Amino acid sequence: MIRTLKLKMALTNEQKASLLRTMESYTRAFEIAAQWGYQNRNANKFAVHHGVYHTIRQEVPDLPAALVLTAKDQACEALKVARLKKAPHRRTYAAMRYMRREASVHISKGTVSLASVDGRIKTTCYFPRDFNRYMLWEVRASNIMYERKRKEFYIGVMVKKEAPPREEGDILGIDRGINKVAVCSNNVFFDSKRINSVRGRYAKNRAELQAKGTRSAKRRLKEMSGREKRFVACESHRITKEIANMNYSVFALEDLSHIARQRWVTKGLKVKLQQWPYNQFEEFLSYKAEEGGKQVVFIDPTCTSQQCSRCGHIDRGNRVRGWFRCLKCNHQLDADLNASRNIARFGKIEMGRLHANQPNATDDEEGCSGAQEYSESSCKPLQM
Ligand SMILES: [Zn+2]
Repeated sequence: MIRTLKLKMALTNEQKASLLRTMESYTRAFEIAAQWGYQNRNANKFAVHHGVYHTIRQEVPDLPAALVLTAKDQACEALKVARLKKAPHRRTYAAMRYMRREASVHISKGTVSLASVDGRIKTTCYFPRDFNRYMLWEVRASNIMYERKRKEFYIGVMVKKEAPPREEGDILGIDRGINKVAVCSNNVFFDSKRINSVRGRYAKNRAELQAKGTRSAKRRLKEMSGREKRFVACESHRITKEIANMNYSVFALEDLSHIARQRWVTKGLKVKLQQWPYNQFEEFLSYKAEEGGKQVVFIDPTCTSQQCSRCGHIDRGNRVRGWFRCLKCNHQLDADLNASRNIARFGKIEMGRLHANQPNATDDEEGCSGAQEYSESSCKPLQM
């Protein structure tokens, strides 16, 4: 399992200036390597190294040797992406890659020590309390990022831990709705009263501020959108944490990724789907499940709400608003609960299919190269 933790670094103006100069030298090293590789039609890391190492050392003598290497590696990767058809360029203040030794991060102490053109920079980071669970994870590489607008530096620390062995056990079906955030097939309901009331308040304030249209109103709108996003993320964290800790080894969810294109989805539902970040819920649940040796499986959402979870009879008339009553066997229950039981059943079928197709399925994360790991979508939830 690999996660990237994005942390803000507490730096003095002097340290910031050093890091900016380091970025400039790093970019220069990148450009030299990229040019050489392009002119010599070669993106091989060893060949480029022999071709440019001394030139770079002469050109930017203060850049630590290890950063010369990562700048050159990044140039080679960019050359490969461009298929040597053009010399890749790099924004002067784009992210720099640091290997483990050049950016020593102590999660338990909250300290970071970075190599720079002016020697080692020692500083502290703000660690959200939630990151305590990464204390014993192995720190791999880091990315140093600069946000020009805020004039702040961030460090993206890649941490790694072996995934615990997967448990064998029961499947929990989860139906995600509008009026209820989630309904689980074990009769646990997560209603969205609190979320809807808070979001309703935000919507009202937003409308008032938009009507005003002044500059300060615009600024407040922006601040508010940040707060609302954090509130929603926090609620998603709370709910997915509770679900992931339930005594099930597989969580079945409807695959809602193409739902907006489905014919049976009404316009109103589409609008509502856009308002609630379902993908965030999926991401949070997936990584929490993975850390506990569990997994998430996705199923086809067609018919989950119209089918009877007891006899399997499918009929639109089975469902009347929030209540389900089977026209064939007269089975009655909450409509979302009925859906969640169907989802659990389909999840079981899907799991059987997965097992049949990949008898020796392994974790494919090991195969990723460093460059790809940073773009993993699983990293996003941590960048709150
Ligand atoms: Zn029935």
